[in-house]
Amino acid sequence: MDKKYEAVIGLEIHMELSTKSKMFCGCSANHFEKEPNSQVCPVCLGLPGAMPSPNNKAIEYVIMLAQALNCNISQSIKFDRKHYFYLDLPKGYQISQYDEPVGLGSGEGVDFGGKQTVRIRRVHAEEDTATLKRIGDETLINFNRSGVPLVEIVTEPDFSESDTVIEFLKELQLIARYLGISDADMEKGSMRLEPNVSVRLATRNQASNSQQLPNYKVELKNINSFRYAKAAIDYEIQRQIKALETGEALHQETRGYNKKKKETYVLRSKESAADYRYFPEPDIPRILLDKDPGANNQQPRTSDPLPDLPNAKRFKLMDKYKLNKKQADYFVYNFVTNPELYNYFVELCDKNPDADSVVIAKAMLNKKINPGMDHQKAIGMLNTQVETDETALNSAVSEVISENANIVAQIKAGKDSAIMFLVGKVMQKLKGKADGKVVISRIRETVIG
Ligand code: ADP
Ligand code: MG
Ligand code: ZN
Repeated sequence: MDKKYEAVIGLEIHMELSTKSKMFCGCSANHFEKEPNSQVCPVCLGLPGAMPSPNNKAIEYVIMLAQALNCNISQSIKFDRKHYFYLDLPKGYQISQYDEPVGLGSGEGVDFGGKQTVRIRRVHAEEDTATLKRIGDETLINFNRSGVPLVEIVTEPDFSESDTVIEFLKELQLIARYLGISDADMEKGSMRLEPNVSVRLATRNQASNSQQLPNYKVELKNINSFRYAKAAIDYEIQRQIKALETGEALHQETRGYNKKKKETYVLRSKESAADYRYFPEPDIPRILLDKDPGANNQQPRTSDPLPDLPNAKRFKLMDKYKLNKKQADYFVYNFVTNPELYNYFVELCDKNPDADSVVIAKAMLNKKINPGMDHQKAIGMLNTQVETDETALNSAVSEVISENANIVAQIKAGKDSAIMFLVGKVMQKLKGKADGKVVISRIRETVIG
C-alpha cells in the first residue's frame, strides 16, 4: 500500500449457531440443502400473532463466544426489533439486540498469535433471514433459514491490512469450532463477513490513538471466501486512495464485490441506526443472565468454564515446547478434526523429557511418527531420523533442475515417475543425507508449483 495513506478497517461478522432448533421457534435450524420451505412455522414465517420464544442454547453459545473474545457479559439482556423492508424478511423487522447485547467490549484486545490484538465492540444474538434465488426475472423465497440463530461480532476499527483481517477471521472461525458453537464455513454462508473500510493519511509521526477516524466508511458485502475478503478489501483501499488523490469526495455507502470483475460497486448509500427505528421486542421479556441459573435451569448459563482456546494451545506449544508459530499452528489448526495429534504430542513430550520437543514435532509434521504409535518406538524413530539440511537441499534441488531440463520438461508434461531420476541426483549431491520424502516433495513443488 502507498505509504502516504493507511487503511482503517472494522469488521461485522455473522455466524450461524449450530443449535438444533431456530432462535424463536422449534423448527430445525439445520437448513443446509433441505427441501425449500420444509422447515417453517407461523413464528419463523412472521405470521401475525405468532409468539417468539427465545432459544436458551443459542444464548448460551453467544455468551461462550463473548467470553472467549474477552467481552463483559451483561447481567441482563433484551431483544429489539430492527425494521427494514425486504423480501427476505416477512415480518418487516428482524429480532436483534440493540443497546443491551449479550457481550460488550472490555477494551482488552483479542490475541490471535499475530502482530497485534483486536478489540471487540460487541457480541449479540439475532435471527437470520430467508434466502432468495433469482431465476430469470422471478425470485423464489426459501424460509428454511428464517429465524436460524446468529451471533454477530462487531470489532473496533483496529485493522489496517487485509492480511491481518484474514488471520483474525481464521482465528475466529477456529474459536467457534473449538467452542462447538458454529461450523463457521464461509463457503456455506454459516460465517459471513462485512468489512468496513476507510482510508486516512498515515500516522507514522503521531501516536495512532490520537488519530481521528475518517468521517465516512464503506461497508463491503457479498463476500463468501477468505480469498474474496482479501481481494475486496485490497481493491477498496486502492479505490479510495485514488479518490483521495484526485480530490474526489468519499462518502458513507455499502458496496458489493464482483468476483468476475474483481471490483466493488455501489449497492446503496448506507442506512443509519435511525432508519431501522429500533425498539424493544414487546413479545420477549428481559432475560437475566444469572451466574447461578438455579434449579429450574430456565436461564442460559454463564458459569461453565470455556474449553481451552486455540491461542492458549498455541502459546503453550511455543512457550513450553519451543515450537515456532508455523509448527504450533499445525497442531492448533488440526485440533478440531484430529485432537489426537495435539494430545499425543503433548503426552510424548511430557513422558520423555529428554527427547527434543521440536524434533518430535517435526517428526509428526512429516508423518514419521503418528498418534497411537508406541512411545518407545516413536522415540527410537527420532534417533535414527535423518535431519534434512534445508539450505543444502534447496541449492541441490535448483542445481539438479537446471542441469536436467529435459527431465523437468517430461515431469511438467505429466510423466510423474521421472521425478525419481531427479531424486537420485539430489541424493547424490547430498551424499544421502536427506529424507527421501522431503526431497520428492521439494522437487515436485519446485517443478510443478
Ligand atoms: P454503524 O452504526 O453504521 O453500523 P458502527 O459505528 O456501529 O457503524 O460501526 C460498524 C463497524 O464499522 C464496526 O466494525 C467499526 O469498527 C467499523 N468502523 C467504524 N468507523 C470506521 C471507519 N471510519 N473506518 C472503517 N471502519 C469503521
Ligand atoms: Mg452495523
Ligand atoms: Zn419456525
